[in-house]
Amino acid sequence: MSERIRRLEESARRIRRHALDMGEVQGQGYIGQALGVADVLAVVYGDQLRFRADDPEWPERDRFLLSIGHYAIALYAALAEAGVLDVEELETYGSDGSRLPMSGMASYTPGMEISGGSLGHGLGVATGMALGLRHQGNPARVYNLLSDGELDEGATWEAALACAHHGLDHVTAIVDVNALQADGPTAGVLRTEPVVEKWQAFGWHAVRVDGNDIAALVTAFDELREHRGSPSVLVCDTRIGRGVPFLEKREKAHFMPVEADEWQLARDALEASA
Ligand SMILES: [Mg+2]
Repeated sequence: MSERIRRLEESARRIRRHALDMGEVQGQGYIGQALGVADVLAVVYGDQLRFRADDPEWPERDRFLLSIGHYAIALYAALAEAGVLDVEELETYGSDGSRLPMSGMASYTPGMEISGGSLGHGLGVATGMALGLRHQGNPARVYNLLSDGELDEGATWEAALACAHHGLDHVTAIVDVNALQADGPTAGVLRTEPVVEKWQAFGWHAVRVDGNDIAALVTAFDELREHRGSPSVLVCDTRIGRGVPFLEKREKAHFMPVEADEWQLARDALEASA
């Protein structure tokens, strides 16, 4: 295994560890999703994104837009791993006066580009932001992490049309396909497959990858950033609870219950899997 991949796998493990620590603070959090998307965030922040940890407002930074505000726990973990946030601050997660509210809000948190959570708006914001950056001659790229549940939203597809129409090849959408959304299994709520073919039909360069395979993610992101002429989307199949076997096996629920005595067991299981 290359040094690049090994380093990113260690980073992903720390992101999971940070997320478990935050989950324990509140006794809750969208920990299943955070564990599932940790590998994607490790590759994005540790390998792909151009940013300055000590200057989150740097004008030429690549923008990472989190549509899914409830994934904030995962992004805080990644921002701590990236050095944008201090690890010690994570213990304030969700507390009164904290800069780390349980749903992501741009006005609170360094590195949080948008307030997400009203689902289906991230890609529209990304498209507008990308048009603005191109108009300014700013070389920054725009990433938008959205969920498979957000593929139910009409606004997502309207943005997909506009983004392709304007040829915004500095936009990369990342779809976290964990096959689950608030109301149940994605396939049962509203069938969105075949996902890749839909994006292609909307004029996007679309690639699908195992979102828990760091080496595959690196290869795919490298290929996507070289693509020109249309926006790109990386469809990532991820597993809820990934990295903590007893949570991977737990009945799939949008809000996974974790008992008070299980957070330490989860950290132990994560370390044992190293
Ligand atoms: Mg989902």
